[in-house]
Amino acid sequence: MALVVQKFGGTSVGTTERIGRVAQRVVRTREQGHDVVVVVSAMAGDTNRLVGLAYEIDDEPVGREYDVLLASGEQVSIALLALAIQKLGHKSRSFLGHQVEIMTDSVHGRARIESVGADVLREAFARGEIAVVAGFQGTDKDGNITTLGRGGSDTTAVALAAGLEADVCEIYTDVDGIYTTDPNLVRGAQKIDRISYEEMLELASLGAKVLQTRSVEFGMKYNVPIHVRSSFSDAEGSWVVPEEDTMEQVVVRAVTYDKSEARISLVGVEDRPGVAADVFDILSEANIVVDMIIQNASREQGRTDLTFTVPKANTQEATRLMDVLSAQLGGATVSADTAISKVSVVGVGMRSHSGVASKMFRTLSDASINIQMIATSEIKISVVIDELYTELAVRLLHRAFGLDAA
Ligand code: ADP
Ligand code: ASP
Ligand code: MG
Repeated sequence: MALVVQKFGGTSVGTTERIGRVAQRVVRTREQGHDVVVVVSAMAGDTNRLVGLAYEIDDEPVGREYDVLLASGEQVSIALLALAIQKLGHKSRSFLGHQVEIMTDSVHGRARIESVGADVLREAFARGEIAVVAGFQGTDKDGNITTLGRGGSDTTAVALAAGLEADVCEIYTDVDGIYTTDPNLVRGAQKIDRISYEEMLELASLGAKVLQTRSVEFGMKYNVPIHVRSSFSDAEGSWVVPEEDTMEQVVVRAVTYDKSEARISLVGVEDRPGVAADVFDILSEANIVVDMIIQNASREQGRTDLTFTVPKANTQEATRLMDVLSAQLGGATVSADTAISKVSVVGVGMRSHSGVASKMFRTLSDASINIQMIATSEIKISVVIDELYTELAVRLLHRAFGLDAA
């Protein structure tokens, strides 16, 4: 007998008919003799609808009430799934985040899980119940509802799998695995059978939304095997596992893109010690996560330019903060550009192979795509380009690195 955590995304529970099919799959696993915890997202479109309602009231909704609102979607889907499982003659009980003690910090909208209470779920197993847990939500130490950021149900599932020492965490979704690029964008994308935590972590944080970044962090830290597979078929999906020897033979494993960031530029900043510290202190105090940063070599008269990216949702606030700071920075000009995207190539093989950067830049330049920013790490290269050329760049790079299906 094994302990299995199964997570179903929004599309998989998008209608009551689909919820019925999820119930059948869950029951099948139970009837094979396994203990099952099911984590579900809100029904397809529900979270977006709730976000839309909040924006009708406030153009930058954040905080406690936003989370109370957003977390409500999952309350609907857990109840419906528990009912559907009961209808099939099995015991089932639904749980909200706080009922299984998913404890988080208090950063509303993107809270981090600090601990999970496995006891309540073990008691449910002892009663012979299939536990159905709301994804995406937790509670802080003061009892406030928190949410884990978009796509957060993946993290709920992997965190519970870690806490329960489950044998596997199955992520059921609307594609049948992890691909060499978004299969909804590039027809020639190929399914990857096994991928290392490290590569998946880069892919997720660079925009491949098939797994939320924090879910991969949990998986890597607690060694949870993650199996990403289709809700609509029994086909074997993709496994996220510790790195294996053969993985370095592939130079570029996948290409990904992210349109969720904006670029902020400070032109003509005074070039003296402490400037960068001032800029990034202020952003971090406002809880704005900065991703790429570029500072130019010093220009004439001791001035320089500083450019960085922030989530699009924070553009207004970041620009406002920089405008206030600009006087102290010697009257720097602040500008923002939201029409950008980041395109990245990822692979552990990049550690031992050279020439990836030159091939990437040449491919883009042959298509007259201008590179605005570059960032590299041991296993990835990212470029910021005009948002308009995202799809073209992804397709060209996918082909250039030999990832297109024959
Ligand atoms: P769910 O609602 O099940 O959580 P998501 O929409 O969050 O599903 O994630 C699945 C989607 O991720 C796919 O429909 C696909 O468009 C997208 N995606 C992006 N990059 C990849 C990739 N490399 N492999 C597979 N899917 C990807
Ligand atoms: N319902 C949440 C969202 O749409 C969480 C999830 O689906 O993982 O982002
Ligand atoms: Mg998702």
